[in-house]
Amino acid sequence: MPAIRSRPGKIVCVGRNYPEHAKELGNEVPKEPLIFLKPPSSVVWQGETIVLPSASRRVEYEGEIGVVVGRSMTRVSENDVTSGIRSIIAVNDVTARDLQKSDSQWTRAKGFDTFCPLGEESSELPDLDSLTVVTRVNGVERQRGKSSEMVFSIPSLLAYISRIMTLEPGDLVATGTPSGVGPLVSGDIVEIEIPGVSRVSNPVQEDQ
Ligand code: ZN
Repeated sequence: MPAIRSRPGKIVCVGRNYPEHAKELGNEVPKEPLIFLKPPSSVVWQGETIVLPSASRRVEYEGEIGVVVGRSMTRVSENDVTSGIRSIIAVNDVTARDLQKSDSQWTRAKGFDTFCPLGEESSELPDLDSLTVVTRVNGVERQRGKSSEMVFSIPSLLAYISRIMTLEPGDLVATGTPSGVGPLVSGDIVEIEIPGVSRVSNPVQEDQ
């Protein structure tokens, strides 16, 4: 399957979906999935630069397992989700952590241009229960999480979201980040890899 080079129609993200990550930021694991949106204009691709906005003093990586929707899904049951998934994709949910803490909505913290690097879509659909996501900064591993450790599984997330908003072909669901988030500085190279499935690496630069 060719890479998607058209942006998703919408990007639905999930917060606090790994217990260790919720804990490291001082949060409880939510009782229902915590969802928010990133704008499609935040997407960049392999090798493109992540720009650190001057409005933030602390921008962090969040390596995530992304799910690309293949067919329209409205109020689907968990059992019917898998056939509606097109592919798995590596996602970096880049976040201005200071602005996330100071703003009650996360739109600014999550929504800057270049804050959503995406890898290539997987050529086939891998086993959703045995995915691993790894983040490296300058070649050093910073995060490693497994889909089996998620608070809410991939099928339960998509079923939940589809009860709120119709998921349409090409939409992207970013399923949350494991523990180990940390800052990016100018000159870094950050890589998100779902081994054997998808990867994306990007240089980081100050806003000029
Ligand atoms: Zn995230």
